[in-house]
Amino acid sequence: MLPYGRQWVDESDIDAVAAVLRGDWLTTGPAVDTFEAALAEVTGSTLPAVSVTSGTAALHVAYAALGVGPGDTVVTTPLTFVATASTASILGATLVFADVSEDTGNLDPDAVDAVLDEKVRVVAGVDFGGHPIDAPALRAVAGTVGAVVLEDAAHALGGRMDGIPVGSLSDVTTLSFFPTKNITTAEGGAVVSADAELLARARTFRTIGLVRDPDQLRHPELGPWHQEVQAFGLNYRLPDVLAALGASQLRRLDAFRVRRQELHDRYTAALAEVPELRTPTRRPGAEPCWHLYPLRVLDGRRRELFEHLREHEVGVQVNYLPVYWHPVYADLGYRRGLCPVAEEYAAQELSLPLFPALADADADRVIDLVRSFFGA
Ligand SMILES: *Cc1c(COP(=O)(O)O)cnc(C)c1O
Repeated sequence: MLPYGRQWVDESDIDAVAAVLRGDWLTTGPAVDTFEAALAEVTGSTLPAVSVTSGTAALHVAYAALGVGPGDTVVTTPLTFVATASTASILGATLVFADVSEDTGNLDPDAVDAVLDEKVRVVAGVDFGGHPIDAPALRAVAGTVGAVVLEDAAHALGGRMDGIPVGSLSDVTTLSFFPTKNITTAEGGAVVSADAELLARARTFRTIGLVRDPDQLRHPELGPWHQEVQAFGLNYRLPDVLAALGASQLRRLDAFRVRRQELHDRYTAALAEVPELRTPTRRPGAEPCWHLYPLRVLDGRRRELFEHLREHEVGVQVNYLPVYWHPVYADLGYRRGLCPVAEEYAAQELSLPLFPALADADADRVIDLVRSFFGA
């Protein structure tokens, strides 16, 4: 089965990991520092990123570092992986879903504006498929109630908007390094921000809440060994072994981006004029590092096309079930129909195989199967 996404691990990655295994540090050591500095560079940040064990952990850490808790509202998009919302819910926040723009599938600033009130602490957008959110508009809207913009850039590392790298567009940005994403550490993620205090809280949270800095201790008199917890945290540390893989992968991110764009263009050139289909939009100024090729099937036959492609060993995927359709949200009283644009997008969407090692011949086979399905 041709997968819809997969990693590209080469000998240089394997050598980087083996070197760590032969060294002194398996967990938090020099490879973590190197990776966090390299992530800062690629995201245009002056501060090292905070690496964690997954994109889900990155979201949990970011919301915790923003102080999100009971009584706070987080506004987000329904067109995302459940973790964008569930990590805020688990901290006790109330989730409000706002609709998306019909071209990009990204959070619509006007829809956000319509649901804002004084309880909103965070507006959490997602760079759907890799296309950056409209961060300036979202920040302007969020700012009217003193809220900040969190960008879930699990799809988008390596992209830019108006020349600004993903990671420097919003108040805080989270990344995922799951194997299908733009680079991988097997499991992994990171938090990026220009706010040093926020990153310090994130770093403490991902290290069980332990404080070691003598200037920060409440009880330094207890001895030179003393460390203490002043706020709860978890162990979300990314091991050195995986950070070495990430740093090695980052060196090829730009080549991955170029190849992902080539394949995007190849699909779009071949499928754009099929009347039953809609190919992805790219807004002016956007230079995405595409994670997905989100095709939309307009004639109601998305399921049939999915099954047809799967029968022919093409591993297509649907991104996503609208978040509030998950039973955990339905049980809280969220009803279908809340965000009609996102629900229509979700009903039409079919992600074609997209990964940098995908051969042109395989992409062409996918194209032929899709075109012939519609008699084109
Ligand atoms: C993959 C993904 C996550 C979660 O990342 P993991 O590393 O799988 O935990 C969060 N948000 C979005 C939009 C994702 O695609």
